[in-house]
Amino acid sequence: MSDLNKLLEESLHKRKKDDSFRSLKLVDSSLIDFSSNDYLGLAQSPALRERIQEKHKTVEYPKNGSTGSRLLTGNYSFIEEAEQELANIFNAESALLFSSGYNANLSVLSSVPKRGDTILYDEKSHASIKDAMRLSLAKHYSFRHNDADDLEKKIQQAEGSVFVVVESVYSMDGDLCPLNIFSFICLKHNAHLVVDEAHSTGVYGALGSGLSCQLGLDKAIPIRIYTFGKGMGVHGACVVGSKQLKDYLINFARPFIYTTAPDVHSVVSIIESFEYLKSHIHLQATLQENVKIFKETLNNNSLLTPGESAIQSFLIPGNNAVKKAAQTLQQKGFDVRPILSPTVASGSERLRIIIHTYNTKSEILALANALLALS
Ligand code: PLP
Repeated sequence: MSDLNKLLEESLHKRKKDDSFRSLKLVDSSLIDFSSNDYLGLAQSPALRERIQEKHKTVEYPKNGSTGSRLLTGNYSFIEEAEQELANIFNAESALLFSSGYNANLSVLSSVPKRGDTILYDEKSHASIKDAMRLSLAKHYSFRHNDADDLEKKIQQAEGSVFVVVESVYSMDGDLCPLNIFSFICLKHNAHLVVDEAHSTGVYGALGSGLSCQLGLDKAIPIRIYTFGKGMGVHGACVVGSKQLKDYLINFARPFIYTTAPDVHSVVSIIESFEYLKSHIHLQATLQENVKIFKETLNNNSLLTPGESAIQSFLIPGNNAVKKAAQTLQQKGFDVRPILSPTVASGSERLRIIIHTYNTKSEILALANALLALS
């Protein structure tokens, strides 16, 4: 074995010893999907696929790729029109497209908070938020999950401009941020609230505009990040806010500047997905109804995290134990995945269950009963 491979093997061996070794697996489509982020079924909608293909033919941009950064050859009229449409959907002055939510978070948090500023982030924040802060020159501290008192105390101790980073729907526990209270605290202390709406895009709000818009808080939240690879069933992300925010990111956000612009097919897909949702907005209510069936069947089981969203976590501490539980469910025909440490804190390993519009009532009841049999 070469010296390099020996080095790599040392870390891989540790992962195997800890039962946390990751490997890529193909999706077994014979299983019932309780795992994908396709909350509303848009990723698998043949009608949406057809719409995207038809629209793609009519867009005047005869290239297969965008050919460069937005600041060089990668800008085109359809992407600018799409950004205006997204700004309208999310009730903002401007929107800037990114090829992923990961890149959007890196862009915002690495560039907007500067040296001498403070970023306060919820302890349950997604890895993309944590990675983004490592690129920032600002200091960063966590506050207790969804804890308004802890947040307020930390804002009072913070230096420089203060940025508070939260997710509207938490990606692992599926609970909602108390955005009303947090936006009030931020306004009171002149802190800037940054909301990652990855898991609420499409699922909440008129037109799929997310939780902040549904709560009428869009004007109180200066920076919002929406992603399209989950509820919208396609790919990409955008940051919305003021015209100055957009100009700032175009000038200073390195993950925006030094990457190839999204290609026209991705942008068409995003716009057509919102168009499709407009005439299928009942899917949001179907999803909530399915979540309710699931939760009622589990009847406040102590292993179930209390969130109301389509993300439901069933705690089974220990990497080995949660992997075995997932295997048992998979053998019964359910595609349910284990979430291991270090992705979540040790001791809070869980089955991350996603409820979808296309899960039937009998499938949901069967899964809930299989979970009860595990506990
Ligand atoms: N933010 C949160 C809360 C997420 O859960 C994710 C993805 O899992 C992202 C951002 C990244 O979004 P994307 O998958 O578009 O890169």
